[in-house]
Amino acid sequence: MQNRSVTAIIAAGGRGVRFGGSRPKQLVEVHGESILARTVGAFVAHPAVDDVIVALPADLAADPPPFLRDRALRIVAGGARRQDSVTNAFAVVSEGAEVVVVHDAVRPFASAELIARTIAAAAESGAAVAAIAARDTVKRVDSGRYVRETLARDTIYLAQTPQAFRREVLRAALAINDDATDEAALAERAGYQVRVVEGEATNIKITTPEDLAIADTIARRGKAVRTGRAGLGYDLHRLVEGRPLILGGVTVPSDRGALGHSDADVVCHAVTDAILGAASLGDIGRHFPDSDPRWKDASSVELLRRAAALVAGEGYEIGNVDVTVILERPKIANQIAAMRDVLAAALGVDTARVSIKGKTNEGVDAIGRGEAIAAHAIALIRAR
Ligand code: MG
Repeated sequence: MQNRSVTAIIAAGGRGVRFGGSRPKQLVEVHGESILARTVGAFVAHPAVDDVIVALPADLAADPPPFLRDRALRIVAGGARRQDSVTNAFAVVSEGAEVVVVHDAVRPFASAELIARTIAAAAESGAAVAAIAARDTVKRVDSGRYVRETLARDTIYLAQTPQAFRREVLRAALAINDDATDEAALAERAGYQVRVVEGEATNIKITTPEDLAIADTIARRGKAVRTGRAGLGYDLHRLVEGRPLILGGVTVPSDRGALGHSDADVVCHAVTDAILGAASLGDIGRHFPDSDPRWKDASSVELLRRAAALVAGEGYEIGNVDVTVILERPKIANQIAAMRDVLAAALGVDTARVSIKGKTNEGVDAIGRGEAIAAHAIALIRAR
């Protein structure tokens, strides 16, 4: 992005509809952080934004919440209408600002990319608004709620914020001083062309208590996308004569095999627990109990496949899986490639995302004496 000076105005001036008790809605928490802190944080942290001005209700401006006091930003008292708040903030925008981006305090999920492309479009065209194409057919109705017109849907966009303007454009827009629900409308009335940039479905405006549940889902998902989720799995079975040794769905030539109700595949069991754990879905015993006849002779690969489907059903995809098998003998090096293929197919990922290593226990303890086999697995998952 070009080097230009950009100021962000966060419009939090109205008290709006109160919900969640006596606090103004912008201070209500979503997944552990207030809506306003999330919104302000997105702009303070944004590499293209140099300066942030927050318009707060007068009482909050006089005694701002701690998360605003600690930040490098300026606070002004808002006004009766939205554009009064923006006007008050605009009055302290520095002369050096080339672009001013205005954003609703109660839209905490605008992505950094959306903010960047709105700023870039405004720098180029003068005025830009984030908006999403209408998915539903739009009807214009009269006062009696009879349809008067069906609008061509492909011409309808629903405006969001951020809305960004070259400074002189926003100055002219605010000078109009009409009632308007957004600054873009004022810029239009001032005679400027306003360009639409593609908004985001997750960039919701939180205005009702029902929106909070949706916001919580978006916040959780956003966190999972950013950080991923790790899960750990472990399994151990006794080794006895007269049983096949099945690891990762592959039969390994061996004079001893793992003892268990099922095929006692420690690799599959550890990976199953790892992916279930990463999604906080409990463990293999909860979903596929030994006591349930359905699972009595089920292959562990099939159980892993079902576990992967449960994880996918929660909205996650598997990033990678890594397994360490601890076994004194036999060596499993020659079977590892086949095991990786089987696990990858069950998980629905490329083989490159599955790793398996073999280890001995150097003759120490039950595993070292060849009486047992164990496996450790770790899985990383991400929201899709
Ligand atoms: Mg097991």
